[in-house]
Amino acid sequence: MIGSSALAEAFWRDGRCDECPVYDMHGHMGVWHSIYFPRPDAPDMIRSMDSAGVKMLLFAHHGPLFLPDMDHQVAIEAVHQFPDRLRAYLCTNGVYPEQIERDLKLIDEHPDVFIGIKFLCDYHLVPMTDDRYKPAWELADARKLLVLAHTWSDSQYDGPKVVRRIAETYPNLSLLLGHSCHGDWDAAVQLARDFPNVYLELTAVLDNRGIIEKFVAEAGADRMLFGTDLPWFDPHHGIGALLWAHITDEDRHRILHRNAERLLEPLL
Ligand SMILES: [Zn+2]
Repeated sequence: MIGSSALAEAFWRDGRCDECPVYDMHGHMGVWHSIYFPRPDAPDMIRSMDSAGVKMLLFAHHGPLFLPDMDHQVAIEAVHQFPDRLRAYLCTNGVYPEQIERDLKLIDEHPDVFIGIKFLCDYHLVPMTDDRYKPAWELADARKLLVLAHTWSDSQYDGPKVVRRIAETYPNLSLLLGHSCHGDWDAAVQLARDFPNVYLELTAVLDNRGIIEKFVAEAGADRMLFGTDLPWFDPHHGIGALLWAHITDEDRHRILHRNAERLLEPLL
């Protein structure tokens, strides 16, 4: 039921809404082993974004995220090709600290490309708090960047306990909890309440009923950010889940673009 939501009505009618330009704060790019993506590269991803009114995507390219020998050139070229639509996270892999050191220079060399850093610690099996990541955290904090960290329930690598230590240590960066400590929703809310620079990112949260309403009520819509893992999931699915949630259009505007605009304003 669309009910009284003007936003839902617009999205249902047109597939997008010009008054609600969506910012997708959690994307990837490129092919992946063991799965077929129909739209894995920048031009195709832009098509997906256009169909749903996604104004900007922040992405961590699968290449440098998983292939330590691969540099970030592919991400830099994608942003240069679509400078109004894309920004990149610098990818880190704690197994290869020499590559972190090599790549961190890119943040100052390409301020038009990189708005932050991506951590994927429970894939790389190196805890967020490991010393090998320290240069990356320190640079992100010094430059007041966005950090998108995959966070998952009780993981020893990126669960709420390690997230808390990071949030205590680095108050100047904006810490986006990718997947919002998926499954440990109360811990995610508590982190957002305890630290003004912690945000709940919604990729993979939107397929759980009731969590959006819980986050809005307990953490506040101004602490939530939209994300899809594009090209893994379609933006229309995520937007639709928000439109069906029992929250107000004002909350949806905050989650879909206003919070992102505020965070990105000093970085764009
Ligand atoms: Zn992801």
